[in-house]
Amino acid sequence: MTTTIGMTVRVVVTSGNYEVVDVKKLSVILRNKEKFKMKIIIDNRLESVCYYDGESMGGGDIDFLCSKCGEYVKHETIQFLMQSNRLDKEYKTELNDFFDTNSELLKGHKAYVGLLSCNYCGCEYAIYLGYGEVQPARYQASLISVAEI
Ligand SMILES: [Zn+2]
Repeated sequence: MTTTIGMTVRVVVTSGNYEVVDVKKLSVILRNKEKFKMKIIIDNRLESVCYYDGESMGGGDIDFLCSKCGEYVKHETIQFLMQSNRLDKEYKTELNDFFDTNSELLKGHKAYVGLLSCNYCGCEYAIYLGYGEVQPARYQASLISVAEI
């Protein structure tokens, strides 16, 4: 089964596993942006809170208001994590540098960076997410920072 998620990420679902197949497209988007034009619209670095804390490694949904059209940008956490894992190293490094992801903001959370777009207006965002298995079978996710690109 092939599903279209959002406007840029296409995933193939095989026996319950998701495979992100269009990550190259995300890299092209990044390549065409000037990184210093990214503008942070959400910054929870000083007070990181979990939007998900539970037994499913799915990690709930990423959810924030589009700064351009005011609609909600909503995306499954697990798909974002897989997209992040497959993003080109070069762009991953750029995003990690931009968000300065070196410090562990919440105990047991690992930094994940990537891109999401608004389903309504197509506005693209760089995302910095914290995610981790903080105890056996207990998963947490936190939205740390979002930038317009
Ligand atoms: Zn929008």
